Amino acid sequence: MNVQTTTFPVPHQAHGHDHKCRLCGSQVETTMVDLGMSPLCESFVPPEQADAMEPFFPLHAYVCGECFLVQLNEYVAPEAIFEEYAYFSSYSTSWVAHAEDYCRMIRDRLDLGPQSKVVELASNDGYLLQHFLPMGVPVLGVEPAKNVAQVAIAKGIPTRVDFFGVELAEALLKEGHAADVIAGNNVLAQVPDLNDFVAGIERLLKPEGVVTLEFPHVLRLIEFNQFDTIYHEHFSYFSLITIDIMAKRHGLKVIDVEELSTHGGSLRVYLAKQDSSREVLPAVAELIARERAAGLDTLQAYTIFGEQVKRTKRALLSFLIEAKEAGKSICGYGAPGKGNTLLNYCGIGPDFLDFTVDRNPYKHGRLTPGMRIPILPVEELDRAKPDLVLILPWNLEREIVQQMRHIADWGGKFVVPIPEVRVIDPREIKL
Ligand SMILES: [Zn+2]
Repeated sequence: MNVQTTTFPVPHQAHGHDHKCRLCGSQVETTMVDLGMSPLCESFVPPEQADAMEPFFPLHAYVCGECFLVQLNEYVAPEAIFEEYAYFSSYSTSWVAHAEDYCRMIRDRLDLGPQSKVVELASNDGYLLQHFLPMGVPVLGVEPAKNVAQVAIAKGIPTRVDFFGVELAEALLKEGHAADVIAGNNVLAQVPDLNDFVAGIERLLKPEGVVTLEFPHVLRLIEFNQFDTIYHEHFSYFSLITIDIMAKRHGLKVIDVEELSTHGGSLRVYLAKQDSSREVLPAVAELIARERAAGLDTLQAYTIFGEQVKRTKRALLSFLIEAKEAGKSICGYGAPGKGNTLLNYCGIGPDFLDFTVDRNPYKHGRLTPGMRIPILPVEELDRAKPDLVLILPWNLEREIVQQMRHIADWGGKFVVPIPEVRVIDPREIKL
């Protein structure tokens, strides 16, 4: 999701096969899925570096047998990934609308006003906090990427450029920023020191304050075979079972949970201090029971997933090989991070895809990391008229099929790779 402008960061720390769980400290030995060696999925290769080497790191997801945190070893310093983003949340209109809905909901639910304080961690360009300004609710953003934070500051949103943890929480407390609400959307997966981050949250929270965290749900990842959402920049993948363990370790409790459709299926969890008067709603026990029924408190559910991923790779390759043997031309649509996990793991290069297209001009003229597939503007599809268009951001399938249905004019069809390979003929779709 985040486009990285620094080219090739240096390896951070390699643990080998011996490592401790990022959350509970147990020895982690069980492989969930091994996606082989892969480059950083947001390191799009500029044309002048087309002949240069590119670092590859193991893309190997393990699962902890104690707390069931799915985790990757950390190979690249977060500073290298996050100091300069080319990703601005406000570019996505649906994401901004999602944020606005959240702000209204949380204001009403917690009765926020001029006496309150909302702190957002990884506040990006202020896409969320901006909605509190007209409501008169004081806010503070925390954002490590300076260029993105400056956009928020220019909008009038107080923003601290820093990484969040206990140290920063203490400093913010001294400056009077104790929080009624702490929000963290899609940040938890990218936190290398999870315990320091959550301990910081607990420190900064007022006694009756509420924390909301949103993150992709590992149950959906397994159920819908979303293995391509695993990449180096995402160190951790959570079930509610794991979140519950994490909360208890830090004097917090899960009081509510909602399932969202964002990012292929996310959770929004609500946390409060263990000794706060806030009640635990039935949704929490209900979802934990569903996760147990799916086996997420056993290692088996995770290791079965690894086998399913290998079958998916073989099925997708069989389909593409058959199409090429039949003389068909294939192009990609989109160059998202998840696409690069899929392409590298399956070994799908320019011998299968002539090129891919993307709406983000930053990517035009660059090559996908590892597989080195050229990325062109969307209009190039109309010129090339390929027989098949492989949709890489499958979470946007509906939107892309609607926007690009005119490929039917030359007999083109869409291919969706996940959860399993599927062909969509736009002529058969009713408006
Ligand atoms: Zn653990």
